[in-house]
Amino acid sequence: MSDKILDVMSHDRDSAALRYVYPVVSRRAGGVSVGINLNTNNACNWRCIYCQVPGLTRGTAPATDLSVLENELRDFLNELLHGDFMQRRVPEGARRINDIALSGNGEPTSSAEFVQVIALIARVRRETALPQTVKTVLITNGSLLYRSEVQQGLRDMAKLNGEVWFKLDRASEAGMQRVNDTRTSMNKVRDNLIAAIACCPTWLQTCWFALDGEPPSHRDEDDYLEFVAAMMRDGHQPQGVLLYSLARASMQAEAPRLSALSAEQLQVFADRIVKLGLPVKVSP
Ligand code: SF4
Repeated sequence: MSDKILDVMSHDRDSAALRYVYPVVSRRAGGVSVGINLNTNNACNWRCIYCQVPGLTRGTAPATDLSVLENELRDFLNELLHGDFMQRRVPEGARRINDIALSGNGEPTSSAEFVQVIALIARVRRETALPQTVKTVLITNGSLLYRSEVQQGLRDMAKLNGEVWFKLDRASEAGMQRVNDTRTSMNKVRDNLIAAIACCPTWLQTCWFALDGEPPSHRDEDDYLEFVAAMMRDGHQPQGVLLYSLARASMQAEAPRLSALSAEQLQVFADRIVKLGLPVKVSP
């Protein structure tokens, strides 16, 4: 195992030389996030133009070897809890386990074993006596939340101090096609989001950036605010919004056309969201 210190910009999936499990010092989470990458084939059903996955392809997660994943997770958590990994590899000030995060190089809920993966996390959490305060986070584009087995996984996650981060970058069909390179209807997005909120506490994660030097338009802002306000009026309440810009370079062909917004630009939009009555965590 490498002795390289992990820094806040390193989301290197190979940093612990394991197949599925990778540690990340998360700028947003403020500690060590134990990542689980089910998409070892770099396949996603979307192609966001800011996506940082190198060699991204369209598709779904391959079959997961559940026993390999379970052993990796158990061994790695034991190393974090009882070994010297924190001292050797993690900068001072970030030496705490923040969460177990289903994230990685594609859409995690596309794994056919998603429910079994959540059950496995529950088992390993119990066996390693992981503190209750450590969250179980799912970072998802939300597009497969209509599936009953994915909803079951979310209900199970809720019992593990679970949290869903549901991607909502733009709230119009044209905007989603431009930014996420996916064709969908806002009714479908709404139904998927309602399902997520009903199963597990859910945050919206929103990437806000400039394309060809142009920040999101007022129309983009209004679409977003109207979409979220309508959900809330109907009694579907997300926990809040994680609003961020481009932290790392896109690996997509559009990369040269993208640029990050300033903290001030993000804050202007954040202030409008707060007026809806939702907390906003901003990460420039
Ligand atoms: S949903 Fe995530 S993994 Fe998929 S293309 Fe978008 S950023 Fe990349």
